[in-house]
Amino acid sequence: MIVGFLKIMVKDRKNESAEEFLDRYRHSAAHIMAHAVKRIFPGAKLGIGPPIEDGFYYDFDLEEKLGPELFDRIEGEMKKIISENLPFEREEISQQDAMKLFKERGEDYKCELLADLSGEVITIFRDGGFVDLCRGPHLERTGQIKAYKLLGVAGAYWKGDEQRPMLQRIYATAFPSRKELMEYLRSIEEAKKRDHRKLGRELELFSFHDEAPGCAFFHPRGLVLYHTLLDYWRKVHYREGYQEIRTPLILREELWHQSGHWEHYKNHMYFSQVGELNFAVKPMNCPGGILYYKEKQHSYREFPLRIAELGVVHRRELTGVLHGLFRVQSFVIDDAHIYCLPDQIKEEIVSITRLILEIYREMGFSEYQIEISTRPDSYIGRERDWELATRSLTEALEECDIDYQVNEGEGAFYGPKIDFHIKDSLKRSHQCGTIQLDFSMPERFDLEYVGADGKKHRPVMIHRAAFGSVERFLGILLEHYGGALPVWLSPVQVIVLPVSEKSLPYGRKVGERLTREEIRSELDERNEKIGWKVREAQTQKIPYMLVVGEKEAAAGTVSVRSRGEGELGQSALDKFIERIKKEIKDKN
Ligand SMILES: [Zn+2]
Ligand SMILES: [Zn+2]
Repeated sequence: MIVGFLKIMVKDRKNESAEEFLDRYRHSAAHIMAHAVKRIFPGAKLGIGPPIEDGFYYDFDLEEKLGPELFDRIEGEMKKIISENLPFEREEISQQDAMKLFKERGEDYKCELLADLSGEVITIFRDGGFVDLCRGPHLERTGQIKAYKLLGVAGAYWKGDEQRPMLQRIYATAFPSRKELMEYLRSIEEAKKRDHRKLGRELELFSFHDEAPGCAFFHPRGLVLYHTLLDYWRKVHYREGYQEIRTPLILREELWHQSGHWEHYKNHMYFSQVGELNFAVKPMNCPGGILYYKEKQHSYREFPLRIAELGVVHRRELTGVLHGLFRVQSFVIDDAHIYCLPDQIKEEIVSITRLILEIYREMGFSEYQIEISTRPDSYIGRERDWELATRSLTEALEECDIDYQVNEGEGAFYGPKIDFHIKDSLKRSHQCGTIQLDFSMPERFDLEYVGADGKKHRPVMIHRAAFGSVERFLGILLEHYGGALPVWLSPVQVIVLPVSEKSLPYGRKVGERLTREEIRSELDERNEKIGWKVREAQTQKIPYMLVVGEKEAAAGTVSVRSRGEGELGQSALDKFIERIKKEIKDKN
């Protein structure tokens, strides 16, 4: 966080990208907001105030509780600072003088940041009576800010450290025009309505409890959705020649030393001691999968060997960052490890890419972005292996005829990778799928296969996932559809609504028939008015409601109401079943 703040670079303005301009614009607005807060609460101590995606924040330490009821006042003060059109003045200063200045102003946090800045050129920025330790850049004057809005307050530990004081973080945004701001505010209203945490509650899909922070409790309907996703996943993976395994959740600590996770990842892992033995709860499936691979000797003839595992992993997160299904501590990765020959890499990447994109398409995501990350400065493995692997990745994407972006030097130290980002209906991007080549694990675990020459060789290992975290993907799906999932994914596809007690037996018969046809249905047996039942089914976002009264019972029909299209009128039950089955088959 601090690093991000200090890395705001002074760039040649002429070459400034739209994003860089927006960062500079919003960061300037952050100064104005902090200035306004200091005018209202002179005792407030400043934390940091960087631009972030879609806005900016500033952290404050003060006695008074900052809340939305103060936003008008702070925005009003910002308006004054903007109309004063103060210049942002840059000043280079010695560390000693800066320390003195911020000490006098009681800015303890700035002093702490300063202490870490030895040997660098230190700059401060002033606008009017406000002064901030900052590298810039900023706008020229406060009057250039045209549209801004405070959005919320949250607690944030200083430097993200739970041992340090909890500061109050005001989130806000700023746009170059009022129109863009209004558009953005509308989109966040829409996003709030679609918040998967809210939908999860309303649609009775899942819940979270303090007894297991960041671990979802899936309710019956939520689990149906979960299994529907996985059933589909298995179907397409088995079709593509994947085999599935399941390895233990808890494995001896030594394994994690050998895999390198201990070294690089232990702060995110759970450990357990049983008797004399130390165990770790797996944060990734790979080491377990490798033990399976080593179970027997492999031949090049088996390659590519595609071993999938829908493994439950646990990863420790700071409690502050947990966020519904988007950021959890326990989740399933739709993992697969592929062992192949170097000259099979390209073809394998083509087939994985096609599979991942097919899955996204079927789930209703038509927009995506693909990034290749190449060899970083420090890496393991042979240069020519990296070259072959990286060339295979790019050639594979070209063969699939898809655009991609190259992130030079951004690959992991153990191999190059491809990341898949999907765009949801609110145009938000989510990183989901990944294809990762790995030159490290085969070495660490001494993996082998017998080649055509009868000699032993190292296999190429590819890690890949389409959903990434199944939990997170489910959250994305819910927000993408605003809870109105396509029929094939809906936990309840049809609800049967008897008009009165009298039509209950017929309603039951309809329900039983639907069940026999493997259509997921429920029967609303409650003695409530039909209008009320319909409204409730509508808020439950159930795709079809079948209203049945005495008339329908006599004729053997149902009165169909669709979530999206409203009343569809009377229909023979068989006809309706035909219609919904076709929709399910077509994944509508
Ligand atoms: Zn600044
Ligand atoms: Zn893996």
